Amino acid sequence: MRRRVMACAILAATLGLGCRGAPGTPAADRDITREDMRARISFLAADRLRGRGTPSEGLDIAAAYIESEFRRMGLNPSKSGYTQRYQLVMSDMGDGWSLALRRGSRRATLRNRTDFWGLPWTAGSVEGRLRFVGSASPGGPAEDDEPTIWVARLSPSTMPRDWQRAASAAGAVGLLLVTPSEGLEPQVRHWLSEGEAMYELGDIEVSVPAAMVSEEALTAAMEELGLDAPPEAQDDGLAPGGQLSLAADLTVETLSAPNVLGIIRGRDRRLRNEYVLVSAHMDGLGVGFAVDGDSIYNGADDNASGTAAILEVAEAMAELKDEGPRRSVAFLAVSGEERGLLGSAWFVEHPPIPLERIVANVNIDMIGRNWEDTIAVVGKPYSSLGALVDSVAMAHPELGLTTVDDQWPADGFFFRSDHFNFARKGIPAVFFFNGVHADYHRPSDEVDKIKFEKASRIARLVYEVALAIANADDRPTWDPEGRRRIVEGEQ
Ligand SMILES: [Zn+2]
Repeated sequence: MRRRVMACAILAATLGLGCRGAPGTPAADRDITREDMRARISFLAADRLRGRGTPSEGLDIAAAYIESEFRRMGLNPSKSGYTQRYQLVMSDMGDGWSLALRRGSRRATLRNRTDFWGLPWTAGSVEGRLRFVGSASPGGPAEDDEPTIWVARLSPSTMPRDWQRAASAAGAVGLLLVTPSEGLEPQVRHWLSEGEAMYELGDIEVSVPAAMVSEEALTAAMEELGLDAPPEAQDDGLAPGGQLSLAADLTVETLSAPNVLGIIRGRDRRLRNEYVLVSAHMDGLGVGFAVDGDSIYNGADDNASGTAAILEVAEAMAELKDEGPRRSVAFLAVSGEERGLLGSAWFVEHPPIPLERIVANVNIDMIGRNWEDTIAVVGKPYSSLGALVDSVAMAHPELGLTTVDDQWPADGFFFRSDHFNFARKGIPAVFFFNGVHADYHRPSDEVDKIKFEKASRIARLVYEVALAIANADDRPTWDPEGRRRIVEGEQ
């Protein structure tokens, strides 16, 4: 955004100072400013970019801007370039869904979006015998001789998608998930009833048409035809004489979305093959339901603030030139976060830099609102990064920031931004986050509510943290308990 080399030379000449040095780290103080944060957030969260939904033209503009900034700053691309595009499959619910139960010549029809709700991802019409497969876990008997539609009970610990995969793998032609209608998660209920489009990564395997059905409605239909009611939990068996037909009406389209990666090469010959990954999601919710006449979900705090921060940190670090970080530092702007951490999920499955060489992930998601003097660093207890972040914050009292642990453990924020995908692959991770607010995920998450000065201090702290990790002799390590919980997934 500004010319630093000149400023540095002038400072050095007039004050007899070097262009950097401890304490105070002038590079970051000079380069990461309130005005720069304001300019970047104002651009990314402008109405013109229409909330940067995944995928959208506004998102592509944000990605092009980030790539051009990385180029201008002198960051290097990976072998696959600065911008990696991944495939997305969009399935949009149609109105032509049908579900019927048949016994001989008698038929009981269930009502779309009242008795049953279609699930995305696979279209088509199927017919088969009912087979009850219980609820324990997505799995069941291997292939039947005749076409079979599985009927399973959805439990809180399983995802519809897992059942869909299992049914498909076992050779069933369709899937019904029996759910007490009041037991549907509010969010699932929301997108099912709104008929909203769903997005998934493009490399998912094709599976079978599926729907959720209310237990009351299915039981009533079976009784009407004189069939036995659905058996309880663990039972497994064919319903004698019962046939089901399910027609799934979806528009399925393959689209693509960008992630942008820029790399500052480390100066240490041995350590430069290792990377510190600084990440933020550049996407937002796009355009949606209007609230008070505004339908653009600008996502100024979530997450133009974090995206601006990685650009500012990259710019300051690139200015260090020959005195830059010992390890390489990679800056990653992902998309698809708001659709279920899709961009980072794709990144870890197709990493342009080897995952085992990424020593840490520092993720930034929402740093422009709430507290002036405090920042939550979610995931602190899980690895040595927690102590490192605290000591860096203490060593920089000029930033006026206290680093605190997750303040909302019940909300599970550690599992809700992109660092989780890296952590799950064994990369120690922390997440800088100022908490949610009344404008979170609403069109009112606007630029004029951002605290630019404080956001710039958090970006400076992230700069110092990334540099400290990059310059340390040893890589960060997991706390054994943190590893058990996050990497191995034990509660
Ligand atoms: Zn976010």
